Amino acid sequence: MNIHEYQAKELLAKHGIAVPAGHAALSVEEAVEAAKKLPGPLYVVKAQIHAGGRGKGKFKELDADAKGGVRLAHSLDDVRKDAGEMLGNTLVTVQTGDDGKQVNRLYVTDGVDIAEEYYLSMLVDRASGQVAMIVSTEGGMDIEEVAHHTPEKIATITIDPAQGFMPHHGRAVAFALKLDGDLNKQAQKLSKQLYEAFMAMDCEMLEINPLVETKDGQLLVLDTKMSFDGNALFRHKDIAGLRDETEEDPAEVEASEYDLAYIKLDGNIGCMVNGAGLAMATMDIIKLNGAFPANFLDVGGGATTEKVTAAFKIILKDPAVEGILVNIFGGIMKCDVIANGIVQAAKDVNLSVPLVVRLEGTNVQAGKEILESSGLPIVSADDLGDAAKKIVAEVKKAA
Ligand code: ADP
Ligand code: MG
Repeated sequence: MNIHEYQAKELLAKHGIAVPAGHAALSVEEAVEAAKKLPGPLYVVKAQIHAGGRGKGKFKELDADAKGGVRLAHSLDDVRKDAGEMLGNTLVTVQTGDDGKQVNRLYVTDGVDIAEEYYLSMLVDRASGQVAMIVSTEGGMDIEEVAHHTPEKIATITIDPAQGFMPHHGRAVAFALKLDGDLNKQAQKLSKQLYEAFMAMDCEMLEINPLVETKDGQLLVLDTKMSFDGNALFRHKDIAGLRDETEEDPAEVEASEYDLAYIKLDGNIGCMVNGAGLAMATMDIIKLNGAFPANFLDVGGGATTEKVTAAFKIILKDPAVEGILVNIFGGIMKCDVIANGIVQAAKDVNLSVPLVVRLEGTNVQAGKEILESSGLPIVSADDLGDAAKKIVAEVKKAA
């Protein structure tokens, strides 16, 4: 789960980490009120969307030379003007895709006198089974670009969670950032605090870009992105409450209510599969046959009729879907139960696009008979290759 910058900063502040003062705002008036609570005279008005690259982003509705989604404002009038230009408009950044994201919230924060910008992030590194802290002197820019052109400027420090954060980790971070004296000490303290906050909140990823050194010698978190391990959210009710569903794909939100793992993609063939590995293989083989999957969908091991129906409805809400491929391996689940679910769901949703079903496993014969005798135009397939060929052909025929 992702959260907004202002929420992440509030959480970090609770863990004793220094962030600039600031307030969220949902309207132009609130933005001006937020600025009045800050010392000024420099304010920064920041679009709150779940995507980075806002500073260099462009608003669809504004002129090409208009300012982006992070704006320095030198007076309350400027704050009013910037807030008015941003709220309700669509910000396109390198991370939003061409459609961009509508800006519904702003963060009005203290302008900071920046001497240096650094990069620091943390993530759960599956390869080492540890927490990796990634730091670079090249802050404020796209870290992927830095990794591509000057990988030597990125240092990775891994921390064994069984051992915890040791003083040498802090020293390695400060050294990689080339900091001396008091700043070196601040970096050691900050990296320890960040590690502890990361662990305490079950974060998946925490990125600070930029981490800045101010002109008066303070290390400060200027921008932050944070995401949490969904499997641990049950023990962080306060964090779960920060979820902003308007930032998520509505179909993905609905799918999560039914405990379905659904990710929307750009193709035209809807997929309903049990098991993430089988779902990936199904998507691959659709592509191999020259078409593109409209989604990833794993109904899980113990799908019920209700779940299958919900999955069908979610797949069909996508107007790009021109055909559906169901690929189910009946292991724990029996094929006849699944077949009944498919027939029920197809009737419930008044299925209007071609449907190819490949069933395999326990009670497969009984399952196939149920599909055949249903009277519905369901095409049965024998194996995965056959199923993919058939759905691609059916979609072409219907077009
Ligand atoms: P994004 O990464 O989405 O573009 P940032 O918050 O990193 O957004 O802002 C982009 C740039 O704007 C920063 O690298 C920094 O130079 C500047 N900036 C952001 N916040 C402030 C602030 N409070 N004071 C001064 N400059 C800021
Ligand atoms: Mg940034």
